[in-house]
Amino acid sequence: MKAQIMDGKKIAASIRTKIKNQITKITKKGMRPPALSTILLGNDAASHIYIKNKILACEEVGIQSHSFLLPKNTTQKKLLKLIHELNHRSDIDGILVQLPLPSSIQSQCIIESIDPKKDVDGFHPYNLGRLAQFHPLFRPCTPYGVMELLQALPIDLPGKHAVVIGDSNIVGKPMMLELLMKRCTVTLCHRATKNLKNIVKEADILVSAIGKRGIIQSAWISKNTVVIDVGINRIKNKVYGDIDFQNAQKRASWITPVPGGVGPMTVAMLLKNTLVAFQKKYTRG
Ligand code: NAD
Repeated sequence: MKAQIMDGKKIAASIRTKIKNQITKITKKGMRPPALSTILLGNDAASHIYIKNKILACEEVGIQSHSFLLPKNTTQKKLLKLIHELNHRSDIDGILVQLPLPSSIQSQCIIESIDPKKDVDGFHPYNLGRLAQFHPLFRPCTPYGVMELLQALPIDLPGKHAVVIGDSNIVGKPMMLELLMKRCTVTLCHRATKNLKNIVKEADILVSAIGKRGIIQSAWISKNTVVIDVGINRIKNKVYGDIDFQNAQKRASWITPVPGGVGPMTVAMLLKNTLVAFQKKYTRG
């Protein structure tokens, strides 16, 4: 039997509709809509596509976007000054700095300069710490989106063995914390992990966030595993995940396609976080 597809496009569209309806209610009351500032440095083609998609999604649901496109040679001092201003602007609810930043800039310093209450990407150590304590404020958008996909499935998460491959601060580690928060037993793998094949075989839920096509062989995937492919690998203008979809689909119970799986969910959760940042400011203090 072929695995069923987790349709991220469809689930993300229904989340966007709910957000749009909530924003319509807000503006009907005479309040301003939620507002997101996006900051992009340089000309990286993929980053421009990501920012464009985020801005279009904001427009669709009624979130105001303020886009800052800065040259690649922008200094760290200038970027910090802009973030400082945005932190203090009452008409801005969320701040997103598109990663990766040019190597002349210390990403960690920039992430930590964002007011945690406006950190709608959820990358600030305060927000990761809140997630680690199972009291999240802003949850990193990609793992948050994966949890929405998993929760739409007819499976119970507690007790499941989840294997996460990739331990970055923006995907792998928060993914581990999200699954732990749902009482999964989590194994986190990374580039130094030995016997990846045997660990993958033990997974009830497999999340791959590596960024290398073909590292996970479909033959390693046990029957009925839920397979989430976060990887984005651009090869000759086509996008592939980490996992060979066609063959993995013959083994998994549920699987995400690439594109059309996790990607749209990431954007939807950014919109949700921005709405929550607005609501926390105006309705819950
Ligand atoms: P990263 O480069 O920061 O992390 C990659 C991780 O893979 C590291 O933890 C590394 O240890 C691990 N790794 C590398 N080679 C490995 C190997 N041979 N075996 C086991 N582990 C190995 O990347 P990231 O920012 O975490 O992103 C991961 C992937 O997810 C990328 O393809 C990225 O484009 C994609 N991504 C997708 C979305 C989305 O919305 N779909 C969002 C963010 C990132």
